[in-house]
Amino acid sequence: MKISQRIAQSRPLATTAMHGRVETMRNAGQEVIDFSIAISHFPAPATVIDAVAAAVDNVRTMPYTSVVGALDVRERLCAKLRRENGVAAAPDEVIVTNGAKQALYQALYAMSDPGDSVLIFRPHWPAYVATCQLLGLRPVLVDLPDAITPAFLAACEPARIVIINNPHNPTGKVYTRAELEHIRDWVGSTGAQVIVDESYEHLSFGPAHTSFAALCDWRQIGVVSIFSASQSYAMMGWRVGFALAPAALVGAMQTLQGPITAAASHLAQVATVAAFEAGVQRHMIDDYRERRDMVVRRFSEVPWIVMDKPDSGPYLWGDVRAISDDTVGFSEALIEQESVAIMPGDALGMPGYIRIGYISDDIATLMEGVRRVIAFGDRLAAQR
Ligand code: PMP
Repeated sequence: MKISQRIAQSRPLATTAMHGRVETMRNAGQEVIDFSIAISHFPAPATVIDAVAAAVDNVRTMPYTSVVGALDVRERLCAKLRRENGVAAAPDEVIVTNGAKQALYQALYAMSDPGDSVLIFRPHWPAYVATCQLLGLRPVLVDLPDAITPAFLAACEPARIVIINNPHNPTGKVYTRAELEHIRDWVGSTGAQVIVDESYEHLSFGPAHTSFAALCDWRQIGVVSIFSASQSYAMMGWRVGFALAPAALVGAMQTLQGPITAAASHLAQVATVAAFEAGVQRHMIDDYRERRDMVVRRFSEVPWIVMDKPDSGPYLWGDVRAISDDTVGFSEALIEQESVAIMPGDALGMPGYIRIGYISDDIATLMEGVRRVIAFGDRLAAQR
């Protein structure tokens, strides 16, 4: 049986693979604490559930909408962009997708040709590199500095496309306005196009989130801004997202999306609008903040890990190079010995680090998982 070279050279996403492994273990009756990805313990906002329930009650026919999404849905998403992101856009500059991942794939496909270079800051969400590999693009990985300065950018290898993840998974960095302006000026001089992944836009614990598109002539540069309900509204499994892009790029993304999924599911489009009109989920952010503080405080007592308090997001990013450079081996042994799944930094381009998703379980389970990670690391430290 033939499997294409393209696929043979690609690997399943490390994040979804680890999550799949956890599911398999649980289906076999094993107890596992899963920190490998961040699935919120909150449900979708009540307004989303109500909107979808009403749509189901009223449904007579459920027609295909246009591939980019129903016009009224896109109009309301434009209102969200104006209100929350300070971006004025027209409905033909918006495309509704099955989550950010589909938007990312289609954006990269539509913006590039095989062999083109894509600048990705490291550590990085695994899907950026995996999507580049699927499309035959050349990821150029550059360590994300604490502050993006003109001097730092001038030293970066110019690339056809730059991906910015703001706020950033896994470090929680929220780009300042000045940093985004430096990037704007730099792409103005190199001619690079930009993809901005704003999936965590509402998960900041303090610093204001600024949309890159609000600071630049995004139509002229060719910027694709990606939004997802997965994290900002705790709707991972709903597969809801959309992209803002110049109309020509939306047209190109539509050409690709048409034969694959056609439009996003009509019910998902109803959920999309309700989600992006729900605003910041304050109760959720407060809960995440409390957990973040609790876990970071606990790890601050541990000598072999360095963990900063993130400004946003559902992850903690720990430097464990004091006890392990082989964090794939670290996470394998951890799941075997302690039944705790984490994401090795290798999957995000940085061996020697671990990522902990801390929003999935109740607090007792979270702290039990942390206790086990520490017990495991202490044993490793003692062997050194
Ligand atoms: N972008 C980043 C950087 C993410 O970490 C995530 C969640 N894992 C997403 C996007 C969400 O993707 P999707 O909308 O496909 O669930």
